[in-house]
Amino acid sequence: MQYIKKGVKPPDEWENWFTVPVDPDPRRTYDYGRDATACNIKEVKQYLLAEQHNLCAYCQRYIVEKDSSVEHVMPKQYNKERSTCYTNLVAVCKTPNKDPLTGRDHCDRDKGSLPITPFIFLENNDVNLAQNTNNAYFTANPDGTILPRVGLKDNINKQVEAFIDTLNLNHSDLKTSRSQDYLNGIVAAMNLLNLQTKQQKKDFWKAQFAAIVADNSRPYRQYLLIVIARILGAQ
Ligand SMILES: [Zn+2]
Repeated sequence: MQYIKKGVKPPDEWENWFTVPVDPDPRRTYDYGRDATACNIKEVKQYLLAEQHNLCAYCQRYIVEKDSSVEHVMPKQYNKERSTCYTNLVAVCKTPNKDPLTGRDHCDRDKGSLPITPFIFLENNDVNLAQNTNNAYFTANPDGTILPRVGLKDNINKQVEAFIDTLNLNHSDLKTSRSQDYLNGIVAAMNLLNLQTKQQKKDFWKAQFAAIVADNSRPYRQYLLIVIARILGAQ
């Protein structure tokens, strides 16, 4: 549920990264996972990680090269050409991490080849939307849970539910990390300040919101923005 702001076009090197240098006719690869001669997926991954400020496109954990993978949002079985398309590829976490409660992983490892509605992409690359709280589709609770926003049309609600479930975004570790980031970070800081008035508290939350908006590499960024927006909305 991290919004990904894609460039208007892929980097100049993109086509080269997916071209297998076979003499005399270099060819395009559409299955670089099995195509041993195509070795430039490393560059693709590095580019995507930088574009996403090292946040997983699905769960917003902080990721680096060794614990991430290049993910096809639309699985390659459904559309071969899209398998190397810039607008279909994102970096996501891949480390095995079984939830003790359900035995499930999350993100790429749990999604496999299932299709999802790509809620992570910005419509028309609208930066202003990214500055906001996501929040046509999702809501979130202080305990780390992510849910479909209340009041969605039934067919959209089903797609958001499927998105959350297919990626297992409420994996117990993700929930714990998100809520600890909120409670031990932001709420703890507020308590230390010992703010007295309603206005002081409101100003505090506004400042937190602005700081997170300004920090593209803040893990669980959209989650925190949604939770803080709810607090501000209730005040
Ligand atoms: Zn993830």
